[in-house]
Amino acid sequence: MHATIQKPIDEIIGYLDPGEKVFVVGCDNCAAKCHSGGIPDTQEMASRLEKRGVNVVGWCVPQPKGISLCKLANTKKVLQEEYGEVTKQADSFLILACGQGIHTVMDATDGGMVHAGCDTIFGGETVTDDFITEYCSLCGDCIVEYTAGLCPVTLCAKSLLNGPCGGAKNGKCEVDRNRDCGWQLIYDRLKELGQLDKMDKYIMPKNNSRWSRPRSLTMAGTEVTFRSLAGDVTISRQD
Ligand code: SF4
Ligand code: SF4
Repeated sequence: MHATIQKPIDEIIGYLDPGEKVFVVGCDNCAAKCHSGGIPDTQEMASRLEKRGVNVVGWCVPQPKGISLCKLANTKKVLQEEYGEVTKQADSFLILACGQGIHTVMDATDGGMVHAGCDTIFGGETVTDDFITEYCSLCGDCIVEYTAGLCPVTLCAKSLLNGPCGGAKNGKCEVDRNRDCGWQLIYDRLKELGQLDKMDKYIMPKNNSRWSRPRSLTMAGTEVTFRSLAGDVTISRQD
């Protein structure tokens, strides 16, 4: 999931011209789970803006329940058909969702003016309804086979591929004593799994060109192609 947090209201208002007619759009999937763009959050944002004198012409969180705003066909249908009469009056859209959702609204409204209502902060695991945390930095070249499923790029403050750095004390990271050393966690889990020999393996520098942006994924029949600066990687599900 894409974790998001709402921007401060003053920052949002600072984006708007006097009298600008705004339509607020939320997302019923990730942003709803982060309490940044679900139905109550979007309705609340519309009324907070109105109280501050912003001309809000309407708001919506595209349904059906739980659907992602970044699903272009659905968002387009909702904004252009279900809410078409209102969205036509809007000068701009304030998006309470991640950066993918922002761009989706731009596409769904044929190039409409968009404002970011949230900061997109990481891709995370929804551990509980109240807690989301980051375990993967989306690098495009996964090496957790050698690290007991734990990502050193994300869990180690220095993203060391061959740790630890030697600065940990009582299992805590030298960069931040309040958090666990990622490599201590990897060591402990490898030990528990009886795979400590994997600590001896030298992990080669990663192919960071697979971490280049923007990247894309194309699905065609039984093949899927990942495109990045490293070139195209096509995987067939029938090999
Ligand atoms: S190695 Fe890369 S893909 Fe694998 S979990 Fe870490 S950041 Fe994610
Ligand atoms: S103490 Fe551990 S988590 Fe912190 S930088 Fe060193 S190896 Fe990485």
